[in-house]
Amino acid sequence: MSSDPSPALPIAVTPSAHPRAAAERQAVLADPGFGRVFTDHMVRIPWDADRGWHDAQLVPYGPIPLDPATMALHYGQEIFEGLKAYRQPSGAIATFRPYENARRFARSAARLAMPALDEETFVAALTALVTQDAAWVSPEEEKSLYLRPFMFATEAGLGVKPAHSFLFLVIASPAGAYFSGGVRPVSVWLSTEYTRAAPGGTGAAKCAGNYAASLVAQAQAEQAGCDQVVWLDAVSHRYVEEMGGMNLFFVRGSGSSARVETPALTGTLLAGVTRDSLLTLAGDLGHPVAETRISTEEWEQGNATGEITEVFACGTAAVITPVGSVKHARGTWTVGDGQPGPVTLRLRQALLDLQHGQAPDPHRWVHPLVPARGHASTG
Ligand SMILES: *Cc1c(COP(=O)(O)O)cnc(C)c1O
Repeated sequence: MSSDPSPALPIAVTPSAHPRAAAERQAVLADPGFGRVFTDHMVRIPWDADRGWHDAQLVPYGPIPLDPATMALHYGQEIFEGLKAYRQPSGAIATFRPYENARRFARSAARLAMPALDEETFVAALTALVTQDAAWVSPEEEKSLYLRPFMFATEAGLGVKPAHSFLFLVIASPAGAYFSGGVRPVSVWLSTEYTRAAPGGTGAAKCAGNYAASLVAQAQAEQAGCDQVVWLDAVSHRYVEEMGGMNLFFVRGSGSSARVETPALTGTLLAGVTRDSLLTLAGDLGHPVAETRISTEEWEQGNATGEITEVFACGTAAVITPVGSVKHARGTWTVGDGQPGPVTLRLRQALLDLQHGQAPDPHRWVHPLVPARGHASTG
């Protein structure tokens, strides 16, 4: 718990002898895309059964040699996180609710029979990397540095059991708008053939295997002419859970009294930090909010009657993405007028303003990583 923190492991810093030249970095930052180019450094912290977490280091970004029998490659014992560093108006760099990610990482670790990394070391690793690679954080609106902490089993062997050694790494990649072309509504495919998560499974954990299992459904959505797959519950195939790797929200009615709803966390949904933040932000803006259960029939009927006015997906990478149309095996419908709705856009702007330091932060969600002036060194 952050109220009773164990001290973070000290991180030894070895700067790269060959960081990218400023011109090359600027060219990347001008059009970063998503997850294509990585910064000059990474943090690595190994764990083994004898020493626990030890020998934390910030080192030049580069390949990691692996034994072909590395257990993660065979049995998928891997978890990850995703959050962003944002340039603030002062020039400082901050991130958003990193302890939420640290706690979720620990929950994912527990589900995958992996060791927990303490929250303070998790956040210290982010701080060390962003401090070293601060020049990779663009000051431009909607640009950020995506941070990817992850952990996998490094023990070599083919016996199926929890590994006795793991590696935690943090890498970073400059990010522009996740979906190119700005706030463009996406079309979604309701998948009744494939499911993302079943009761008792790993749906609430951020683990690699969930994503591997989702790819064929995403491909099917694209074959049906849609941008994204919407996951339904595994038991009845009726209740809406998530869209791709994002949580979903439904808006009923319009104006400031519009009701903002999201599927409840049943154990098969991933508890998004963005989802949690938007529930609070929508309440702050005066909207009644609720965590509910929404069936596909209810969604279709709500659209037909005009009761459901807007639907959007949310997550760290893409922030908020409106859903414009829905397709399933027996038909198709348009959400509202197919355009991004006012509640969607207002929430999106409110969240971005908060993250980029353009709005007051009453909930103290913005966490400083690098101060405004001077180039602080880690250690
Ligand atoms: C990461 C993720 C989300 C979004 O979580 P955030 O913390 O908001 O980024 C939603 N659904 C799935 C399946 C995810 O993996």
